[in-house]
Amino acid sequence: MTALVAAEAPLAAPPVDRASVTHSVSEACARASAYAMPLIGADIVLVAQRTGRTLSEPVVALVATPPFTQSAMDGYAVVACDGIEVGTRLRVVGRVPAGSRGDEIAPGQATRLFTGAPIPEGADAVIMQEHVDRDGDSIILRRAIRVGDNIRIKGEDVQPLEILLQAGERLDARHVALAAAQGIGTFKVRARPQVAVISTGDELRQAGNALEPSAIYDSNRPMLLALIEQSGLVPIDGGWVPDRPEMIADRLRCMAERADLVVTSGGASLGEEDHALEALVRADGSGETLKIALKPGKPAVVGRIGSAAYLGLPGNPVSSLVCWLLLGRTMTSSLEGREPPRRLGFPLPSKSAFARRAGRTEFVPVKLVEGHDGLGVEILGRGGSARLQPLAEADGLAEIAAENDGVRPGDVVLFHPLRGGFAI
Ligand code: AMP
Ligand code: MG
Repeated sequence: MTALVAAEAPLAAPPVDRASVTHSVSEACARASAYAMPLIGADIVLVAQRTGRTLSEPVVALVATPPFTQSAMDGYAVVACDGIEVGTRLRVVGRVPAGSRGDEIAPGQATRLFTGAPIPEGADAVIMQEHVDRDGDSIILRRAIRVGDNIRIKGEDVQPLEILLQAGERLDARHVALAAAQGIGTFKVRARPQVAVISTGDELRQAGNALEPSAIYDSNRPMLLALIEQSGLVPIDGGWVPDRPEMIADRLRCMAERADLVVTSGGASLGEEDHALEALVRADGSGETLKIALKPGKPAVVGRIGSAAYLGLPGNPVSSLVCWLLLGRTMTSSLEGREPPRRLGFPLPSKSAFARRAGRTEFVPVKLVEGHDGLGVEILGRGGSARLQPLAEADGLAEIAAENDGVRPGDVVLFHPLRGGFAI
């Protein structure tokens, strides 16, 4: 797959904007997404294998499903419209397993039928096998039955030519089943964004190397590559670069030729040791530093370089994760031509108190707890933006509203699961 970017109008953003305004999380996401244009190019993929991809064209129903009127139960097809009551005796004249067909029946007759078998001509209801007594080649009804009982009507799920899936739908197993039930063998999907990840920072060491005093191991790059992989995107390991703007610029240029989105971690703030924006400009890119009313999360840099979008994440691992989930996923949705991810969260009461100042939306690691008063979340201590242990223990992140000036037990927070897929 080639990573092409649609030729669109250049961005209005100035090349460098030294973050004078603080953006809300949604404003920051909207700005980030403006730097990521939908990729052109589509792939044809087999229905059975492709989840996580985004449809490039709507899927239209070819046939009705079910394709014929059929039994929803193991039982007996009967003619109910003539009125059949408890105690009625009917003669069993045929036997139809799923996959075969039976002959027409008349009032007073019944056909032994199994789930998924076509309803014989003349029949209009199925009585469950548990609701009859079998007596030789007859059945005696133990329950009354009405027209339509236990029958799935042709086309009751899907009618031919109905639009089943819209372009932009992110495919999962349910969509695979819906298309497969139509006999559709392939999907036309959007190009899968390739995302390069570069770590920056003099203090970073890689696994297998000794850790001298003042050094730490690089955890962001493996984490981000895992997140990217998990989201069905193509990860590209862009390696590590020290805090040297010219070296970061070289690596950015090189990765921008291979990737649709280039992500760096570290040095995204406005201090003298923060070089992300400077490196972007040196590499002939353009962008801006976004100050976000978000905790954890120092400023992030968003922009473009060549035909790639650019995201500079803060170095602190939890900030890096949260900013990726918010800004990174918004940008990759944009590249895939999808609506930005909906950040809904489940409103749940906090079981813990948590001191904080109003002003910034805060994400804290939490565990789900079931108490006598119902489900709630327990905040796992003061996570801190560098602490990975509470994050690894957490069931999810709780989003605390910007205006909350200290969480009291019972205050509602928004729970975003971290297990079984990230949901913020
Ligand atoms: P920075 O955003 O460069 O100011 O870094 C903030 C903090 O995050 C510092 O303590 C860095 O050492 C740490 N940090 C930066 N990059 C990484 C990384 N790739 N893995 C783990 N920690 C990092
Ligand atoms: Mg640094």
